[in-house]
Amino acid sequence: MSPNPAGRAGSAAETTVEPVTIPITMDLTWRYVASAPMTRFLAGLRHRRIEAIRCGGCGRRYLPPRPFCGRCRQRMDDWVPVADTGTIAAWTVVNQPIIDGRTGEPRPSPYGMALIRLDGADTTLNHYLDRTDPAELAIGLRVRAVWRDELIGAMDDISHFEVVTDSTEAEPTIAGPEAH
Ligand SMILES: [Zn+2]
Repeated sequence: MSPNPAGRAGSAAETTVEPVTIPITMDLTWRYVASAPMTRFLAGLRHRRIEAIRCGGCGRRYLPPRPFCGRCRQRMDDWVPVADTGTIAAWTVVNQPIIDGRTGEPRPSPYGMALIRLDGADTTLNHYLDRTDPAELAIGLRVRAVWRDELIGAMDDISHFEVVTDSTEAEPTIAGPEAH
């Protein structure tokens, strides 16, 4: 018997159903336990103190800090002060109103984000910018941390970074580590 095209079309039509909606409320609240180096770093923010951890083997200064050097595989325990000024290493402008992990509320968009290398550090940290116009953003721009009035020892103690157009306004406020 040859297949009946009309019959196949009919079968396909019969399998088209309305999706079932299953209402589920998901509670995603959890506690993040910081590592020992991250705990010291966060505690310093409460006093507007930013510290990087330096590898005794290669001298690389990690910020945010981590327990082990990714290059030398050795444990680090040497802390160095870092300024709250730095340079944009990469940036983007986000146009999707994603949920802000800190507040649980949609973050207004657009907003700027950047990988920022603070003066005295060799690695970058990810943070918000005060600019949303791509024409005003570029790799190499100088930025400065804008601190919140109430400091609780969290990455969010820095509200965001502001672009400093006059280079004299973004001189490091804390002397960086010695050259190596
Ligand atoms: Zn190292």
